[in-house]
Amino acid sequence: MLIVGNWKMNGSIAMASDFLGWFTGHWHGSRGVDIGLCPPLVYISQFEQTLRGSTIKVGGQNIATELEGPFTGEVSSRMLKDLGCQMVLIGHSERRVNFRENNDIVAEKYRRAYAADLTPILCVGETSDHRNAGSTLDVISEQIYAVKNLVGEHALCAGVIAYEPVWAIGSGVAASPKQAQEVHLSIRDLLGPRGKHTQIIYGGSLNRDNAKALFTEQDIDGGLVGGASLHAEHFLEIIRQAEFA
Ligand code: PEP
Repeated sequence: MLIVGNWKMNGSIAMASDFLGWFTGHWHGSRGVDIGLCPPLVYISQFEQTLRGSTIKVGGQNIATELEGPFTGEVSSRMLKDLGCQMVLIGHSERRVNFRENNDIVAEKYRRAYAADLTPILCVGETSDHRNAGSTLDVISEQIYAVKNLVGEHALCAGVIAYEPVWAIGSGVAASPKQAQEVHLSIRDLLGPRGKHTQIIYGGSLNRDNAKALFTEQDIDGGLVGGASLHAEHFLEIIRQAEFA
């Protein structure tokens, strides 16, 4: 199981310090659960320094398609690696929608992350319009194939896939365990034979109340947690649910 927190553009130095203080004081290791935290870029060093020596991995929320040069405001895969990051979110729906990242851009970012030895967490998911139109799997297969065609099955299956229905993100309404399991199983089929052991995690209004039922499903290998990861106690409770799944 894998539980990753995505702080998005939230927090402050003081809040990160409170979170890390509480979390490191109460978390005494987790059996069978890997943990990652993706704070805003400016707090990555604070997280990395506090968590250094523990098994908790620190990650970024985005990278540039380029490695260096005249790209003001951008940060490259190598720079995240240099900061001590071990993972990075790729193609989060907020980036696809607000920053117009299409499948080609997302695939290129995946390639950069993989080449820099960062575990890419590829976010895929449908909007409510797609779901209502019955095109959920078409959309997700386009998202997955764009990456597979560029980097190949081996590199795709070495990463993590986060199924995040866009309608569930930040809405307070998570996919039902049955809805999520159905899509996770289809994603596993899309990955190909090597995808048997690829971690496919669920994200979208995941919280301490609904985590257990979701994690019990066969093809749900953990969660990508947005809002609930801002509260150390809630985040830890979600990790505990994963331990018992
Ligand atoms: C996310 O943005 O990755 C996410 C899962 O958000 P939330 O848990 O707040 O819905």
